[in-house]
Amino acid sequence: MDKINEYLGGRILKKADLKIDELNYLLENGGCLVPATFKKRNKLYCRRCLMEIVKLPIKSQYCRACINLGKIEVNDELIITPTNVKFPSQSNYLTWHGQLTVNQEKGVRELLKAFQNHQDHLVWAVTGAGKTEMIFPLLEQVLIQQKRVAICSPRVDVCIELYPRIQQVFPQTSVGLFHGKSDQKYYLAQISLMTVHQLVRFERAFDVLIIDEVDSYPLAGNNMLYKAIKKAKKDNGIIIYLSATPPQKLLQAVKRKKVTLTKLYQRFHGHPLPEPHCHLLIEKLEFLGINPKLRLRLNRLIRNHERFMLFFPQIPIMKSFAKKLKKLYPELSFVDVSSKDEQRLKKVQLFREQQVQAILTTTILERGVTFKKITVIVLEAQAKEFTKTTLIQIAGRAGRGVDSFDDEVHFYYRFYNRQIKQACQEISYLNRQAVKK
Ligand SMILES: [Zn+2]
Repeated sequence: MDKINEYLGGRILKKADLKIDELNYLLENGGCLVPATFKKRNKLYCRRCLMEIVKLPIKSQYCRACINLGKIEVNDELIITPTNVKFPSQSNYLTWHGQLTVNQEKGVRELLKAFQNHQDHLVWAVTGAGKTEMIFPLLEQVLIQQKRVAICSPRVDVCIELYPRIQQVFPQTSVGLFHGKSDQKYYLAQISLMTVHQLVRFERAFDVLIIDEVDSYPLAGNNMLYKAIKKAKKDNGIIIYLSATPPQKLLQAVKRKKVTLTKLYQRFHGHPLPEPHCHLLIEKLEFLGINPKLRLRLNRLIRNHERFMLFFPQIPIMKSFAKKLKKLYPELSFVDVSSKDEQRLKKVQLFREQQVQAILTTTILERGVTFKKITVIVLEAQAKEFTKTTLIQIAGRAGRGVDSFDDEVHFYYRFYNRQIKQACQEISYLNRQAVKK
């Protein structure tokens, strides 16, 4: 029974995984036992992930969609654990005393109103607008009302970066960080930070669900994860979406008045988004070692000890470029990271602590990370991996500090295409809107 805290809070568990006394406790306290599947229009669906179970030519059928979270067979029974939890009141909630801008304050008011009215809400804020600070007062209200909130992102790096910040400003609150690679086991925390994937394990669990970076991979276009978000909130709960580049689907929901909207065109420091400088490379990136046009820029950065990020569309291009870089600039200290790199978090930390001058990366660091005083360079910007959204997010890594608002962004490409054009146009449009306001 000592593990009971690891079960509570709208978790979907397999009955077979529980001991009898645990099961009895959960059932006596509002848990509910259900079949693992349900039928709709003659099709069979999985109760945990809500995806259709496609029949396989094997004896025991199971759900393939959520197999990563443990196998669910059609004849299994699930228990959905109780969520009627009231968290203790605290003597002090939010300990953050920073100053919000006028725009942020307006956003805060709109968020609190959405919470009060049980209304789903989208915060469309340019990169570096300070959306994290804007959710602090909302979180505080949730805590005061003894309710429960989850802050989710499709990207684990975003969750990891956010975790210490939330802990710091809510020192009396239980804050959990849960994702596939975490050592921390799930428990009933009042604020849970987790990847969107984890939501598949929950049903009617949260009063408020905050979905950060709603447009990013792997959430974008993933039906199972969208369903998981809707399923994980309580019936009268709300979903708050945060994005700098919201997906069309969500903007349509705003049009249909299903979701209310806050727009923030201005960065927290009031300066415009850095607009990318565009450079056409006539020869290949690796022409004469490193393309001479690009080398001029690198020479200057390295000579002046300025920090920079280099974005690549694919890992092999990055690895081969790293070799050239090492050969041509033996004095340059740098790291390279990708989604496949187990040392990624450690390497990013080295760059953050200024122990290395440069970081080479794939799109994995397109968002969710904040560094100050850096030049951002995208190589092979015409590659299909660099969508309009990705380019806008990458450009948004620059100019985030009050004292480095004019960091430079450079796109190097071999063909100018629609993605590059649209990304530059949208950044400049956002800057014009910010001035108008
Ligand atoms: Zn499933």
